Amino acid sequence: MSTQIPFDNSYARLPAQFFTRQPATPVAAPRLIVFNHDLAAQMGITPGDEADLAQIFSGNQTPDGAEPLAQAYAGHQFGGFSPQLGDGRALLLGEVVRPDTGQRLDIQLKGSGPTPYSRMGDGRAWLGPVLREYLLCEAMHALGVPTTRALAAVSTGQPILREAGPLPGAILTRVAASHIRVGTFEYFAARRDTQALQALFDYTCARHYPGASDPVMLLDAVIARQAELVAHWHAIGFIHGVMNTDNTTLSGETIDYGPAAFMDAYHPVTVYSSIDRNGRYAYDNQSRVIVWNLAQLASALVPLMPDQDEAIEIFTNQINAMPDRLLAARALRMGAKLGLDMADPGDQGLVDMLLKMMQDHGADFTNTFRALAETGDAPDLRAAQDYGAWSARWQQRLQARPMARAQMLAANPAFIARNHRVEQMISAATQGDFAPFHRLLQVLQRPYDSQPDAADLQAPPQPHEVVQATFCGT
Ligand code: AMP
Ligand code: MG
Repeated sequence: MSTQIPFDNSYARLPAQFFTRQPATPVAAPRLIVFNHDLAAQMGITPGDEADLAQIFSGNQTPDGAEPLAQAYAGHQFGGFSPQLGDGRALLLGEVVRPDTGQRLDIQLKGSGPTPYSRMGDGRAWLGPVLREYLLCEAMHALGVPTTRALAAVSTGQPILREAGPLPGAILTRVAASHIRVGTFEYFAARRDTQALQALFDYTCARHYPGASDPVMLLDAVIARQAELVAHWHAIGFIHGVMNTDNTTLSGETIDYGPAAFMDAYHPVTVYSSIDRNGRYAYDNQSRVIVWNLAQLASALVPLMPDQDEAIEIFTNQINAMPDRLLAARALRMGAKLGLDMADPGDQGLVDMLLKMMQDHGADFTNTFRALAETGDAPDLRAAQDYGAWSARWQQRLQARPMARAQMLAANPAFIARNHRVEQMISAATQGDFAPFHRLLQVLQRPYDSQPDAADLQAPPQPHEVVQATFCGT
């Protein structure tokens, strides 16, 4: 039986400058690695057999109703503007509307061959980044963080050449609320194509913010979603790694897991990405960077305002108010990790003091909070001079918080996608062993449950296992 996808495409109806129609480039011997049956069911997809899924999600066969296209966008990368990026190795197949919620979802192939936006790239992806993104986005979803999802991963049977030599090729199928990025707005603003900009604005509001009727309202809504998103990242020790404006969505979903990583030992300037040499996208900096990114969105929206001077003044005020909104969202999430509602003037101090001790003692971010939630004690911090006093103050404060324990268990995962486990999983898969991938995926689907059989996946890395750098994998 062949796979049925109830496509209902809208992006393909936008003006021609928004994209280039482009079929996928066939691959030699596609094989299905994994298919997300739960997500498919939510999307109203009827899956065919494995061979058929491999044909479709490798791009070898274009399913009925698909209108493959590469989206145009620009973006600020590490602060510098690239007026022309676009899908260089991805194709939007089309959209479906979820039968249960009415939400419109993009289906995108990533690694499906060259497009007019590929520049020097081959349009392909290797197995490592494909499995990494599959695992990380599904883990983020299970953690409760807004994110794009993974529908399928297929190996291509075709080696691709990277610096390290030939690597197994693969294709990821990604599902997203949309792929509209800050960089999509920048693309048309940079070209002074106000008509297209207006069309993009109308489309974005209709799709994501039906309550917004002008750019001020859109910016406000995106600020709210992105502040909440980045606060979420901080609360689970997530480092996106490449927060360029082309990787910042209008929907407020986490997107593009190239060098993304979860922190082991807590340190505010933790950086994993090999190309982030100055720590622009370090853990703690993410709060500042998202404000900067939304300032770029604001600039791109200026031409849509009736009075440009007034627009700049209003947008500047909105952007200037964002750090406080983010700080407030972050404080609530960090407080919840300690069972606090941040209503007491001492609550922020309890959070800050704990983080300081964790930093000084190299305590594991995830496990320290989880231990406090489970037992009220953090063994990693017993050696800290201030730990006793801190603990006494915290315990005293918790007496007024009868629901604290339940709140803490729901805010502190036992399981994150630890870098060393991800790297070990990729090494195994490269040798043809997908068991570690499937096991990690299964465990990370229930990150807040205690899973005694998976204690090895909870442990921080041994010194020789520590991952020093992650790579975009392009
Ligand atoms: P990313 O870092 O994945 O967000 O990609 C930044 C830009 O580089 C986007 O325009 C991508 O489509 C493009 N790109 C990344 N990898 C490749 C590749 N292997 N071939 C062609 N274009 C690529
Ligand atoms: Mg990207």
